[in-house]
Amino acid sequence: MQLSLDTHLGDSVQPFQRTLRAAIGCTGVGLHSGRKVSLTLRPAAEHVGIVFRRVDLPDQPLIAARWEHIVDTRRNTTLGLPDRPEARVGTVEHLLAALAGSDVDNALIDVDGPEVPIMDGSAAPFVFLVECAGFVTQGAVRRVLEIVRPVRVEDESGSITFLPDLSSVPVYEMDIEFPSSAIRRQHRLVRLVPGAFKRDLARARTFGFVEELDALRDAGLARGGSLDNAVVLRGATVLNVGGLRYTDEFVRHKLLDLIGDLALAGAPLRGRVVARRAGHRLNALALRALFADGTAYRFTPALPACAIRDGIAAPLAAAAAAPV
Ligand SMILES: [Zn+2]
Repeated sequence: MQLSLDTHLGDSVQPFQRTLRAAIGCTGVGLHSGRKVSLTLRPAAEHVGIVFRRVDLPDQPLIAARWEHIVDTRRNTTLGLPDRPEARVGTVEHLLAALAGSDVDNALIDVDGPEVPIMDGSAAPFVFLVECAGFVTQGAVRRVLEIVRPVRVEDESGSITFLPDLSSVPVYEMDIEFPSSAIRRQHRLVRLVPGAFKRDLARARTFGFVEELDALRDAGLARGGSLDNAVVLRGATVLNVGGLRYTDEFVRHKLLDLIGDLALAGAPLRGRVVARRAGHRLNALALRALFADGTAYRFTPALPACAIRDGIAAPLAAAAAAPV
């Protein structure tokens, strides 16, 4: 079944699953490993989801982009297989955010190293890649992860709350606070209507402070970090020639990270996420807490309001309920 509702969509989420029209690749360095990595995005069948494949390892292990596979959240999100320690892929969040923000449900991602290339530190190069590859609307109905009861997690630094929200698109809010006067307190809310991710978040780069670089490198992190792939601050000063891409680039990047990490739920969200000073660790804890409470969520077909208005909701719901 191949249907297209594109002309009906308006501000709603895509009702059908999508994949890429063609394979496309790039190369770059890993932010933390400093290693050169080649990445190829490939189309994938309905219901496959986003799956990484380490093509440099024997048997080319597959690692599904699912929250159950999170193995490290220090300054990035790393996925891995519990029974195969070398089968890991790090810094997945910007690529996952770009795929989620571009409504790509199914893709196979080949990498020949332990980390997704950092590119310019944002999700924009990945959005560009998937747009160059193009999109195919598939026959299967998308499922969305609907929040039906609030779930909250917190740690010593921040909190994340999932809230029910019957908006047709997911809503994300982020608050951050840093001592540097270049950042201070920043707050932003984004409704992920079509085009919003690319316009408002995709170009926001990761950031770090010169003062913490030695400690990060001693911990095996940020070895590929440079002014080419991060906003680098010394105290209150942005060291990058050209300055910031958005005046509040920092909070926008944190929203980008949140969207990329929460894509590990395996389905687009129907609900609101209110995050305060949240990073990769808390994002992972939030997913774990949400899925630990079976009364707090349900998977449901992604039906736009226009589908109900036009009387095509019932066949879509039946298709979504069909066994996969
Ligand atoms: Zn990031």
